[in-house]
Amino acid sequence: MAPRVVIFDLGKVLVDFDYTRASSRIAARGNVSREAVRKFIDHSPLLVRYESGQMTTAQFFGEVAAATGFGGTAEEFAEFFADIFIPIPEMVELHAAVRRKGIPTFILSNTNELATGHIRRSFPFFSDFDGYVLSYQVGAIKTAEKIYRAAEEMAGKSGAELLFIDDLPANIAAAAARGWQVILQESPEKTRAQIAKLGLLQPAPSSGAV
Ligand SMILES: [Mg+2]
Repeated sequence: MAPRVVIFDLGKVLVDFDYTRASSRIAARGNVSREAVRKFIDHSPLLVRYESGQMTTAQFFGEVAAATGFGGTAEEFAEFFADIFIPIPEMVELHAAVRRKGIPTFILSNTNELATGHIRRSFPFFSDFDGYVLSYQVGAIKTAEKIYRAAEEMAGKSGAELLFIDDLPANIAAAAARGWQVILQESPEKTRAQIAKLGLLQPAPSSGAV
């Protein structure tokens, strides 16, 4: 059956990200190496606590500042930490094409307040979803059952009515175990081909049309 709703992961699906520059900018205002900063913030136990809603942004900043000697303000830290994203244009357009078809779309992301605030302010496409299931608000990260259930409740759909796109096999497997249809994002081209096969794409109107 054709899915009724499409749920997108955010990182490495709709936006690319790289903590290298953030680590350098934070380290430049602190007393540890760039590598040490990176180890502390990128896929770290601290980031997991932050993204699963176990600590506030102020607490996260406090812990990073204490560990790295960061001497800047919370506002400077927020800018350095969150300015790591670049939209993936083919995927932003793919999302727009799904919406033109009249299919509701949602975000399901392991993320945090600083990242989503930055993305919302910087990239207009992020406002074009029907709802947002964000780990730090739900209090659980993928692959916990709780966050998938939250997505089902928000979408008002379950099982094969849902199509989920994510770049991590474990996240996809947890969704497939709930009966969701899934696409493992390997490249925008492959994802687009699979979405097209499901009949979920509406081409953009040609510019010459009256
Ligand atoms: Mg991802």
